[in-house]
Amino acid sequence: MINFLQRYVCINTAYPNPDYQSVIALFKKHALDDGFLVNELLLPSGNPMLIVTMLGSSFELPSLALNHHMDVVPADNLDEWRFPPFSGTVSEGLIYGRGTQDCKGLGVAQYAALKMLKQKQLNTQRTIHLIMVPDEERGGFHGTKEFVEHPIFSSLNIGYVLDEGMPSASNRELLIKVDERTPIQIRVTSSGLQAHACELFAQNCVHVLTDFLAKIVTFNLAQQRLVGLHQPGELICMHITSLSANNGALNVIPSQAQATIDIRIPSRLSLDEGIALIDSLLQDYTTITYEILATSKERFKPIKSESIFYKTLAQAVLDYNLTPKPFVFQATTDARFYTHRGIQVIGFTPFSVVPNLHGTDEHISIKDLDQGTTILYTFLHSFCM
Ligand SMILES: [Zn+2]
Repeated sequence: MINFLQRYVCINTAYPNPDYQSVIALFKKHALDDGFLVNELLLPSGNPMLIVTMLGSSFELPSLALNHHMDVVPADNLDEWRFPPFSGTVSEGLIYGRGTQDCKGLGVAQYAALKMLKQKQLNTQRTIHLIMVPDEERGGFHGTKEFVEHPIFSSLNIGYVLDEGMPSASNRELLIKVDERTPIQIRVTSSGLQAHACELFAQNCVHVLTDFLAKIVTFNLAQQRLVGLHQPGELICMHITSLSANNGALNVIPSQAQATIDIRIPSRLSLDEGIALIDSLLQDYTTITYEILATSKERFKPIKSESIFYKTLAQAVLDYNLTPKPFVFQATTDARFYTHRGIQVIGFTPFSVVPNLHGTDEHISIKDLDQGTTILYTFLHSFCM
């Protein structure tokens, strides 16, 4: 398993040229040797993906998908890494490399758990698919979005997806992702008249914009004060991410100033309610307009703690003497494309390492890999037999 993860990490699947074919070849060989069915799929964008299947005896039961993405974010700051990011170096019980946490380590643990079930020759009722998707780190539009629209998708009869979550940074508990937020990224434009900067009463579009942006800062600070009563992922987050004005000279008031704002809304708010909130913050600013640059019409639908899916996973964590802790993810993942189709999704990365997704010296421990495999195996055994 360690060697398998090392080889996976050695395949560079960072942009701009993610080598998906080598990943698929690696898993395909293992899966065929281990007696699984494999199905290679080419998406309309040209991105490939792989489905490894263990058929259950009851075809009418909705199947379970163990999902992970093959792509990783770049690691160009080579000098700052303790070991080369695409080497999978093992040192002092830790496996280093880009993607060990996000999410190649998870993919290997999922595969190992499925293989363990197969090796014990336990015949499950429920069909289990291991699904490997491309393009998650760029929004999943040329990965999972195309997959759920592909004709083969409905034939897989997927009812449940176990997708990536977050390591817990704890030897006592594991995080179970039950919900996530949706981004609304906007550009605001404040317009006025160009004027000489010496005029006391000159209309100044920069002043109008900064006055509005101060409201955004105040709003965000007020949300920060609610942490304790709520998890950060249950709150609304607003961050100013750029600021510019078309100034040509020090003594000229510009005619236009712009800013971009990244807004994250929790699942309890509809997209329309999120947009209404932006409108209400802007209502006194008649010279400011805005446009939405990016959002997602596919929304994550939270999983209920009473569901059998959640309860079975939580029990598998308890059986390993760890405490399951439901948590709300602050960012967005591919999971939304599945929940949008009525599929129940839980995010679960069963590792105790301190989260360092996308970071320098990303690593997991060998113990994490064992722990993850054992817990996933226990879950598969309970949920699919
Ligand atoms: Zn990820």
